[in-house]
Amino acid sequence: MKSIPEYVQDCYLCPGNKRVSGIQNDNYQQNFIFDNDHACVSFDAPHVKEQDGLYKSKPATGISRVVCYSPKHNVTLAELEFDQVVSLLKVWQNQYSELAAHPEINHVLIFENKGEAVGVSNPHPHCQIYATNFVFKYIETEARVSEEYFGQNQKNLFQEIIALEKKDNKRIIFENDSAIAFVPYFARYAYEVYVAPKKTYPSISAMPIGELMDFAEALQCVLVKFDNLWKMPFPYVMPLHQAPTDGKAYPNFHFHIEFHPPLRKPNVLKYLAGPEIGGGNFLSDTSPEEKAAELINCPNVHYKTSK
Ligand SMILES: [Zn+2]
Ligand SMILES: [Zn+2]
Repeated sequence: MKSIPEYVQDCYLCPGNKRVSGIQNDNYQQNFIFDNDHACVSFDAPHVKEQDGLYKSKPATGISRVVCYSPKHNVTLAELEFDQVVSLLKVWQNQYSELAAHPEINHVLIFENKGEAVGVSNPHPHCQIYATNFVFKYIETEARVSEEYFGQNQKNLFQEIIALEKKDNKRIIFENDSAIAFVPYFARYAYEVYVAPKKTYPSISAMPIGELMDFAEALQCVLVKFDNLWKMPFPYVMPLHQAPTDGKAYPNFHFHIEFHPPLRKPNVLKYLAGPEIGGGNFLSDTSPEEKAAELINCPNVHYKTSK
């Protein structure tokens, strides 16, 4: 594999470089946050005619941001120092709180796409934020189901999932006092992993610093194991699932991070085909217990630093 330099002149995320908008990036030392020049959602979006009935139409507006994890072009989240991971989690806390306070923002989706396998052409380590006037579908479902479950059982759904994972004790990748990471029983992708605080917080912003540190440890452990699995940067889609910010209370929404890695083996993609696209059911080709065992057996020190 060709080596990537620490600084790339035509990278729009490297410090001091000019972006397509003509705006120059700060000479940042750690994290750098800016409004996306190619915004997916924006308050300046062209107005669309609202339409009701069977075919509905409503304007989707909001704010799109980019968060760089590091000034170094050639590192990934998995290779950051522990303090840098904690610093990033604090950025996520602040971004969620700031954007949630906006009266027209009803949801804040923070996510990272990593690797060419999920269509990322620029390896500079970064994530994106879509703060929108609508709630994304999975969040809407998780919010509704967690409140329904509580109404029916007087129990928190995610707490029940954690309890079952601990009872089975076959898919837990990492655990400390207040955080846990596991391949869920219901994993769809081979190496799907959830990272969560053990206590229920509707968002990362609600987490106290001690638990945030524990969470950072769990997150870092999963990331390092992913890279160590095949000794390569491990591609994934990583969303933060947090409660909507539409002014309603979601006491049973349990903040968590999900990893959806598209590879089954190095260079072997999980294709969504007949059953998934054609039939609407997700077929898992592997057992979550076996895949969890592979991750559990991976070293906790990143392969690039353990040489
Ligand atoms: Zn760069
Ligand atoms: Zn989720």
